Amino acid sequence: MTTSSPDGLSPAVFFDRDGTIMRDVEYCRAPTEVEVFLDAPEALRRLKEAGFKLVIVTNQSGIARGYFSELDYRAIEQEVERQLGPGLIDVTYFCPDLPDSGSMRRKPETGMVLEAQRDHQIDLGRSFFVGDKAIDAECGQRAGMRTIIVATGLEEPVRPAADWSANNLLEAAEIILRHAV
Ligand SMILES: [Mg+2]
Repeated sequence: MTTSSPDGLSPAVFFDRDGTIMRDVEYCRAPTEVEVFLDAPEALRRLKEAGFKLVIVTNQSGIARGYFSELDYRAIEQEVERQLGPGLIDVTYFCPDLPDSGSMRRKPETGMVLEAQRDHQIDLGRSFFVGDKAIDAECGQRAGMRTIIVATGLEEPVRPAADWSANNLLEAAEIILRHAV
């Protein structure tokens, strides 16, 4: 059982959203397009029960591109959490900025991770980052986390970029539970 350390910090698992928690439809614009992966609720429940905080960090440049509004995004976020089930996700951070905008929040930059660390007293040294793209692994590594690439995204998984690769979220959860300290 992983729990808070004497300093009051908790480990966390950070997740990308599109291609990791839910099917990547390239710029999800409406709640009706949300399709959370079937094994996601079970995978997240196991990690939650083991004492991890669960955080989603998602690049959403579709907002800056004008494809959908922040209000649309919020409705989509609610639908993701509804399909996962109540009480699993501690917090979600999103970045609306364009690539090459100089944003310090857009992955692979670590701004969103550092906000979560500060807001939720997270020990990044005991935490993991799960995503489907190289930018996810890079973000996790830059923040001092161990990283897993899942093969559920649109692109070929980039095994060398991460510490581990997994076919799906349940496999990723098993890897994390084996290596939790
Ligand atoms: Mg993704």
